[in-house]
Amino acid sequence: MITDNFGREMNYLRIAVTDKCNLRCTYCMPHENMVFLPKKEILTYEELLRIITIFSDLGVNKVRFTGGEPFVRTDFIDLLEYTSKLEGINNVNITTNGVFTYQHLDRLKEIDGLNLNISLDTLIPEKFIKITRRNAFDSVMKTIEKSISIGIRTKLNMVVQQDVNDNEIVDFIEYFMSSPIDVRFIEQMPFNESTHFKSICDAEKIKSILLEKYELMPQPHQKNRTTADYKIDSSKFTIGIIAAYTRNFCNTCNRIRLTSTGKIKTCLYADPGLDVRELLRNGTSDKQIGELLTNTIKNRFKDGIEAEKNRKTYILESMSKIGG
Ligand code: SAM
Ligand code: SF4
Repeated sequence: MITDNFGREMNYLRIAVTDKCNLRCTYCMPHENMVFLPKKEILTYEELLRIITIFSDLGVNKVRFTGGEPFVRTDFIDLLEYTSKLEGINNVNITTNGVFTYQHLDRLKEIDGLNLNISLDTLIPEKFIKITRRNAFDSVMKTIEKSISIGIRTKLNMVVQQDVNDNEIVDFIEYFMSSPIDVRFIEQMPFNESTHFKSICDAEKIKSILLEKYELMPQPHQKNRTTADYKIDSSKFTIGIIAAYTRNFCNTCNRIRLTSTGKIKTCLYADPGLDVRELLRNGTSDKQIGELLTNTIKNRFKDGIEAEKNRKTYILESMSKIGG
């Protein structure tokens, strides 16, 4: 297993397989004139297979596919199945907006160790249109319902936005209370090409909203988890709060990010680093790529605060390019 310069075991690779998306969430993309990258800039299917295999040889055993929206790539399911069959990979995860996912659920069900994270920020169809700027609420709900009913391990991701959906935190709990689905509340991050933020509903505030109504039973902290996990009484599900903006989990961070254009990010808040696409395309051997990746991993920032201080660019790119 490869460790970083702070002794953290780096076994988790998150890949943005595309920057394209069918939604336009307000915190992620501009309303219009979104310019997506030309296809030649995005890693091809073959390049992705190669780099995943190299990472697996370095000791990565957990992969998350994200985007953009992974299901807008027609070769995505094949990539997923290939990855799940690699000897060293025992945990395959997807983060999706759920709109195009329904038709693939039966194939997903067959993948051992698969976890499906579906993003949903509201239970109100009209508000869904305001947040995502697209009319797709019913498709997402259909995906969530079927995913649970056929037994896929499913989690919901809700980005909590102050004065937009913070009043639905309790509604989410009540709605999903009897389902075997974990609900995770995520702090909003300033990742929409924007340079500042007015106020956020942070992890403390999310917790205090929950405490007004429920007794939260803290769950044992699992290694490398970014969530603070709780249960309520006999609920089947776990509630997770992710301090994505206030960043209290960096000391156990085991994540390596690969952007859709093949750049390595060893921290969400750092500038993009090693250009893997260039290496894959210029004849560099797998062994040399493995060595360069090891070197990159051995030069990580201690935490997201330090990474942000060292950024050369002030503007944080959209999450759709780095995958969240
Ligand atoms: N399109 C997929 C989706 O929405 O689930 C995958 C890509 S999306 C970038 C991955 C995750 O990042 C989603 O759960 C999304 O809600 C979250 N996200 C995007 N922008 C964010 C922001 N500014 N702050 C916090 N979370 C964000
Ligand atoms: Fe698309 Fe996901 Fe970004 Fe929403 S959060 S615009 S669904 S990539």
